[in-house]
Formats: sequence, structure tokens, C-alpha cells
Amino acid sequence: MTATSAPKAFHVMAKPSGSACNLHCDYCFFLEKAKLYPGGSFRMSDEVHEAFIRQLLEALHVPDATVAWQGGEPTLMGLDFFRRSLELQKKYRKPGVRIENTFQTNGILLDDEWCGFFHENDFLVGLSMDGPAELHDFYRKDKKGRGTFETVARAARLLRKHKVEFNILCTVNSKNQDRPLEVYRFFRDEIGVRYIQFIPVVERVNRPGCQEGDTVTDRSVDAEEFGRFMIEIFDEWVINDVGRTFVLNFDGALAGWLGRAGTVCIFAPTCGLGLALEHNGDLYSCDHFVEPACYLGNILENHMVELVASPMQQKFGRRKQDALPQYCLECDFLSVCNGECPKNRFIRTPDGQGGLNYLCAGYRAFFMHADPAMRLMAQLIRSGQSAEGVMQILSDKGVDFRRKIAGTRRNEPCPCGSGLKFKRCHGK
Ligand code: SF4
Ligand code: SF4
Repeated sequence: MTATSAPKAFHVMAKPSGSACNLHCDYCFFLEKAKLYPGGSFRMSDEVHEAFIRQLLEALHVPDATVAWQGGEPTLMGLDFFRRSLELQKKYRKPGVRIENTFQTNGILLDDEWCGFFHENDFLVGLSMDGPAELHDFYRKDKKGRGTFETVARAARLLRKHKVEFNILCTVNSKNQDRPLEVYRFFRDEIGVRYIQFIPVVERVNRPGCQEGDTVTDRSVDAEEFGRFMIEIFDEWVINDVGRTFVLNFDGALAGWLGRAGTVCIFAPTCGLGLALEHNGDLYSCDHFVEPACYLGNILENHMVELVASPMQQKFGRRKQDALPQYCLECDFLSVCNGECPKNRFIRTPDGQGGLNYLCAGYRAFFMHADPAMRLMAQLIRSGQSAEGVMQILSDKGVDFRRKIAGTRRNEPCPCGSGLKFKRCHGK
């Protein structure tokens, strides 16, 4: 592929403050990344900033462009940096293109001014929170080791007060893994958020900042517990909250049942379209692979589009598929899971082949459990109806319905009582 045949759309997570952060969360992998830039300023210069915005908007050939800010902690740049960014975006925007800014924050510095700015400029904000106070404070601490729950809860209230669209990013770790419903209901009912993403903490014991090693820290989620965590929340969600609360993990998986490209890269067949930009213009293959082996180049020396289209990045993208173990190739849920993220592939399959995903046992259990309801939702969507209809079907038929259709063969009568074969009804 040449730069002229580069993908029309890709995603760059920009880290304007590099890995600098005003917290010291125990499980944070970004803090280690600071070691890649000893003595670095950890502030994106105006030159890099302008090159980023110009090159990104030149390279994207889509009606909706996303400028994604992440850290470290991007609020450390101060508001003027983002005011300047809006000027640059206006300067380089192609006619007819709509630009959306996304902004991932720990919430510590948010105040009325920040939230007013987000609202006025339609920023979509992601707020990191791990559940109610006891669970959140266990790992998410400030530099003095104090819990941050009260400050983050205040940030959530401010975001709501200013009507900022925001979602919660919640890590699933060894502390909150066995309290799924408490966590989910807290976000839904007390924080009042409609969009939630759960991110399993899989933290390897290794050389700082690199994806290597095959043992995990005791902060990491247990694979089977992760499956149970997802299952319990799924059962609550699919009966009560479809179309009201959006759990990105479920939406991403549903895309697999629909045979569509999903919204989350972890379940996509290949990688390569979600890059990471460091504060000094260094571009890496992925946010999870900011390490020397995945360094593509600097955007002050090479246009971003050349780096995205480079053979190295294409190889990185294909490796996700090429490296699948036989166990995945024979898995019933391969088309949904695609072996999940390569960063988590470091255990052995039951017959000893390397490269299996650490979370596999949890994912398999979750996919198997969710399969009947996912098939129902996919069928509703394919027939032009809303996935919300699944709640009515499940409440009409009772909760055992899902278990029944899970065990029904394609040519048997559908357990819904329609008189049709299962393959022509809920098993389509
Ligand atoms: S390596 Fe993981 S996070 Fe990165 S693009 Fe691939 S699936 Fe996504
Ligand atoms: S569920 Fe496990 S075996 Fe199946 S594709 Fe995913 S990682 Fe591979």
C-alpha cells in the first residue's frame, strides 16, 4: 500500500501531555511510558500540534472526523491549548467535514470553565471511574496515595450540570471484579450516565512499558471472573436497559453477531487503524504498543498518512489475524471475538500452542451465555426493528427462554411457539 492508497479513515489518540499525569493509579501503564522520553518536556509544541491537526484532516476522507485527546492527563495542557486546537481545526477543516473532539480525563482538574468549554464545543468526554468510593479509591489514587473518588464524583456532577455528553471508562480489576452489579448500577443510577465501557486490567509483570512476559500482577482481573462480571451485567442490561444504557463492550460484540464492522477495535479481525501520537510528534502503531518496536516515525519528518500506510503498520495490522492459534480458528465465536486484543495474547491453548488470549476463558463463557439474546437482537435489527424489542421478548417468554434457545438445534421447532423451525425464527 502506498500513501495514495492509505485507509480513508483511521483514528489517532493524541497525548499532548505525553504520559504526564496528576494521579498515580497503581495499574496505570501510561506512567511507565514516560521512561521512553527521559528528560522530555511532556508538552506538545505548537509546531507538532499544527502538524497533527493539518495532517489528520488532510488524511481523513470521511464526513465525520474525530480528534481524540488522551493522556497521561490532557487537562494538564490547560484550556488555551484546546482553544488553539479549535482554531487549527477551523483553519484546516475540509468543506463539509464535521469535526468531533473526544477527551479522556481523570476528572481531577475539571471545573465550570472546562465543562462550559466542553459543552460549547460539543466535546465528548470520557471520565475514568472504577465504581463506588471503596472500589474506585482502591487503585485510583493521587500522588500522595489518597483516594480520588470525591473529586471525580464532583467532576461527573459538573459535567451533568453543563450538559456535557460523557461516558464512563471503568477498569475491571482484582478489586471490583466480583461486584459487577454494584458497579453497573452505581454508574447507571447514581452517576446517571448512559454510556459505559469496561476495560479489563491485564497487566503483565515485565520490563517497564513493553508488552512481554506471561504472568500478571495481582491487580489484574482474573479471566474467569471477568467472564462472570460481563455475564451478570449483561443479564441486568438485556432485561432492563437495551437502548437506554449503552455498554460499549456489548455493542461491540453485537456487531460480530450482525456480521458488521464494530465500534471497538478489540473485536475487529485486524488492527492498524488506531494509532497513538506522543507529545513530540512520534507516531506508534497503537495506544497499547507505545514501545520502540512499534515506532513508525515522527510526523514532523514524515506525513502521518505515509506512516499509517507504511508496510510496518500494515504488518502490525495483519499480525492480529496471522498469529491466531488453532484453538481460536476452531472457536465458535471467532467471528465475534477475533482473538481479542493482541496485547493480551500470552497464554497457551489447552494443547500447548502459544498466543492464546489471557481473557479467553472469560470471553468464551460470556459469548456462550449471551449468544441466544445476541442472536435475537441481531434478528430484530436485520428485520428493521429496534434491538430494544429483545426486552419484551425475554419478559414475555421468561428468563428461561434464553437457556432454551441456547440448546435448540436449527431444524427443531422454535421454543417461542411460533410453529416455525428454529432456523427460520429466533435462530435465524
Ligand atoms: S493492538 Fe489491541 S488496542 Fe491496538 S488496535 Fe489492535 S486490538 Fe485495538
Ligand atoms: S473466545 Fe477464546 S478461543 Fe474464541 S476467538 Fe476468542 S480468544 Fe480465541
